[in-house]
Amino acid sequence: MAAESWTVRDKVCVVTGATSGIGEEIALGLLRQGARVTAVGRSRERGEAALARLRRESGNPNVELCLADLSSQEQVRGLAARLLEQLPRIHVLVNNAGIVNLRRELTCDGLEATFAVNHLAYYQLTMLLLERLRACAPARIVNVASDAHKFAGGLDFSDLQNERRYRSMKVYGQSKAANILFTRELGRRLEGTGVSVHCMHPGGVATRLAQQNGRFAKLITRAISIFMRTPAQGADTAVWLATAPELAGVTGRYFYSRREHTPAAYARDDAAAARLFEVSAKLVGLPAE
Ligand code: NAD
Repeated sequence: MAAESWTVRDKVCVVTGATSGIGEEIALGLLRQGARVTAVGRSRERGEAALARLRRESGNPNVELCLADLSSQEQVRGLAARLLEQLPRIHVLVNNAGIVNLRRELTCDGLEATFAVNHLAYYQLTMLLLERLRACAPARIVNVASDAHKFAGGLDFSDLQNERRYRSMKVYGQSKAANILFTRELGRRLEGTGVSVHCMHPGGVATRLAQQNGRFAKLITRAISIFMRTPAQGADTAVWLATAPELAGVTGRYFYSRREHTPAAYARDDAAAARLFEVSAKLVGLPAE
């Protein structure tokens, strides 16, 4: 793939968690470069408001809303089926939707919610759309990870659902380490296909992410928000990863502020990456291939 050949103009991009925060800004950045965007969100009301803003601020009307609760595997399957039906071509997938939960919560599938939304939904949606992305190559996948993976201290495969002890930031960190390991393994598997996959850290960004965890968390995050990046600043590296022609031919890496960074050693562990891939396939009922 020639470096200069890549542009997202008229390319079809799917962005999850695109109705607020960093995801909405990623969608805006892609629209500004002439892409056609499908914004995945949970709430119709928030989604319609986001769509109106995205069209107005980008001057690009080519953005549609697709509703799904990514904590439900059935809804992820339904979302993938609708996308495959509605979009004969998909060139860019940005997995961005994420949560931080103060207390352990289970999804309708009986899985720990942070792991399910932040990692398994990335895995499941990507794998269900992969054939379409491969058929449309060159194509790109961008996974929004986090430097908070450094809180994880590694992935404990004997307790991926964090049943033994639940510590919010550690659990969040593990889900973000999983994003990096997934990117690494998928990058290896997609070598030579024309589909590249990268992950990134947006920085500390003032969004709703931590604000859903009670009044105290809301107060703290509001107080420190002046020292944090804006959602647009947080989105910049993801937009760049999806659009920059100079990245052609590179895959499986972790970026921050448009530069490649080295994640923690356990997020570079190829055996753990391969094992996570297999475990994830089983958990969402897909073949590990
Ligand atoms: P946000 O809360 O503004 O956005 C998260 C988005 O995910 C929302 O649109 C929300 O509706 C969506 N989402 C959450 N659960 C969902 C579900 N079950 N189904 C469908 N959509 C769901 O927060 P944000 O900061 O913009 O977070 C975006 C990504 O950035 C996350 O993956 C997060 O881990 C990552 N991140 C954020 C920061 C930060 O400082 N804010 C730092 C590092 C990484």
